[in-house]
Amino acid sequence: ARPYIVGNWKMHGTRAMLSEARAIDRAAERLIKVEVAIAPPFTLIHATRKEAELIAIGAQDCHPADGGAHTGDISAAMAKDAGATFTIVGHSERRANHGETDALVKEKAHAVLDAGMTAIVCVGETEAERDAGKAQDVVSGQLQGSLPTGDDVADKVTVAYEPVWAIGTGRTPTPDDIAAMHSHIRSKLVEIYGEAGSEVRILYGGSVNPDNAAELLAADEVGGALVGGASLTAESFLGIIVAAA
Ligand code: 13P
Repeated sequence: ARPYIVGNWKMHGTRAMLSEARAIDRAAERLIKVEVAIAPPFTLIHATRKEAELIAIGAQDCHPADGGAHTGDISAAMAKDAGATFTIVGHSERRANHGETDALVKEKAHAVLDAGMTAIVCVGETEAERDAGKAQDVVSGQLQGSLPTGDDVADKVTVAYEPVWAIGTGRTPTPDDIAAMHSHIRSKLVEIYGEAGSEVRILYGGSVNPDNAAELLAADEVGGALVGGASLTAESFLGIIVAAA
């Protein structure tokens, strides 16, 4: 499969940033070896969709319900209607800042699939958990609790391994550490989904930039990257896309 490079704009971006999306999309045309996507804030999904002919546009979160009295929330169907074809669920910033549990993340993942989109389910340990030697156990628990279950769901799921201590810090695990965790995630995916689990893409996220992307993406079982800060300009995001090609 082609490497999958996803930009997570987090809480960045007004319409002034649409030119970056346009530039990424125009260049992605020449980079047919890479599958490229951007998850802008909800407010820009529709406008970004209109800029993008080749890259996929997704949401960063959704509410698990179809609709109702949930002031300020956005349903998966609304994100889809605005132009999203995938949604990120369980990002560590959602887990930490909004107290999202594995059970809630799983509900959200099912809402995303029910709406006809694919889900990127994020997992990753904190620094304290890694130091305590619990990184693999923590990630197993998150996968067990957060991944959607059922027949025919595996091909609509992508897992993103994002160690919390590597997000926005400029620090990354070594390629060997990434390979070890991704192989652990792979065996868990096969345990959960059976044979279909061997096809699920596993992205790495956390301080990916144009300089380290080639090395991190070359690690075993790394099917792409989930990129925060370095996805905010076309120049740096394209640097990563080129490294992945
Ligand atoms: P950074 O690339 O800014 O470290 O963010 C990673 C991330 O959280 C992507 O979802």
